[in-house]
Amino acid sequence: MTEHTLTVAGVAVDTRHWIGGERVASTETFTDVSPIDGSVLGEISRGTATEAAAAVAAAKAAFPAWAATPRAERARILHAVADGVEKRLEELAIVETTDNGALLRSHRRGVMPRVAHNFRFFADWLLKLEHEDFETRGHTNHVSWDPAGPSVLITPWNAPLMLATWKVAPALAAGNTVILKPAEWTPLTASLLADIAAESGLPAGVLNVVQGYGSEIGDALTSHPDVRRISFTGSVPTARRIAASAAANLTPLSLELGGKSPLLVFADADLDLAVDLAVEQYDNAGQVCLAATRFLVEESVAEEFTRRFVKKAGQLTQGDPRDEATDIGPNIHPRQLEKIDGFVQRALAAGACAVIGGHRKDAQYYAPTLLTDVAQDSEIVQEEVFGPVLTLQSFTDEDEAVRLANDTRFGLAATLATGDPERAERVTARLVAGTVWTNCFFVRDLQAPFGGSRHSGVGREGGTWSFDFYCDVKNTVTAPTGWRNHG
Ligand code: NAD
Repeated sequence: MTEHTLTVAGVAVDTRHWIGGERVASTETFTDVSPIDGSVLGEISRGTATEAAAAVAAAKAAFPAWAATPRAERARILHAVADGVEKRLEELAIVETTDNGALLRSHRRGVMPRVAHNFRFFADWLLKLEHEDFETRGHTNHVSWDPAGPSVLITPWNAPLMLATWKVAPALAAGNTVILKPAEWTPLTASLLADIAAESGLPAGVLNVVQGYGSEIGDALTSHPDVRRISFTGSVPTARRIAASAAANLTPLSLELGGKSPLLVFADADLDLAVDLAVEQYDNAGQVCLAATRFLVEESVAEEFTRRFVKKAGQLTQGDPRDEATDIGPNIHPRQLEKIDGFVQRALAAGACAVIGGHRKDAQYYAPTLLTDVAQDSEIVQEEVFGPVLTLQSFTDEDEAVRLANDTRFGLAATLATGDPERAERVTARLVAGTVWTNCFFVRDLQAPFGGSRHSGVGREGGTWSFDFYCDVKNTVTAPTGWRNHG
């Protein structure tokens, strides 16, 4: 314990950066606040260009040895990190809930086990990563994945450790060294991950964690000539700034951005299932990039769907995310609540009708909201709110459903509720989305590609797609024995 240690729900968290295997304090700090009750958790080291340069230098120095570490040894260390996550699962869960306000029960049972799984999955995938050789006129073409170099990973606050490790694990497995910058509203679990990584035998400098405001430390990280990959999850405006900053060095980018995804409910659907899927969209107080926030419901069942939705949504419990009975917790920050309410009040002023909600509950919580009578070209239908705010529109046929579904600048995901498999196939083929779920939501295998189309992102990660991104993929062509090139 030092003057830089916070005790959060009984767990000791170091508030300094983790650079080159050492804790490094900044002279300036920023204040971390819990969204549960607005209480101050503590002061966190506030990095600038100086810490960014130090972290990149540490990652650069550690890169050759880590890149040369045999795959089996890298995989062993990543499994040790997963063991460390599992050992400290309860601590990670309560610290994350205190810092970002998402449900403790889902951190315990879903999110933190998945964090450990991220490390195990990419460790195992590394060991079986190979491509069949191609043959050209007797020559062998052999594909290999070379580690690319120091990688900057920048993550948001809505699922801090889950989204961070979804990048950290494949980047480390690939043989890259990492500079992770968590969001300033939720810096704590990244610091615990640094402790776990050190305890697991990850060499100094292979994982570095720096904290601070994106506007102060971000540019120094993303414009650094020694950085060979940038993976970012966050908003579209920040992505534009990062892409511009990375352009100077042509640093390859992966961007996972926002969405305005549809839930299409056809009259042939199991309506109870459709309503279950719809109510799920309030998860994490609506702060989920993949959320299907636009309900598009076939006209003949729209009234009945709405009736059942209102009944089911009315059974949700909103409150302290540490309580087992809670379904919807607080929103992340007073600024986010203000933003959410701004969207809703402008929509109401433009003629929308709040079937439920339409207002704040208090300083921490927003009432789950469903808006109808919304125009397709209105702000509330076109822009991501990132709060518990959903809209409902109706359609008369499949063509109209597809047209409305595709008519935003995003393309992250789409969800269909239909009892007709042929319709599901037809509609899926016409939807612009990185992921389409039929009669389900949020299920995804780590082997599968993940990412968004249009303004929802650039590139895909998951399974081999992650290694394709984090590595320089090489083709080695070897002539058959005794071959002579006669032109
Ligand atoms: P944000 O863009 O404000 O911030 C994300 C991160 O970028 C933070 O760590 C922030 O400090 C950093 N940052 C800000 N300015 C920067 C700069 N100039 N240079 C470098 N880094 C900078 O996003 P947010 O509000 O934290 O997150 C919410 C957004 O993330 C939503 O749009 C949501 O849809 C999106 N999101 C997408 C996915 C996905 O997988 N597609 C997942 C979760 C969240």
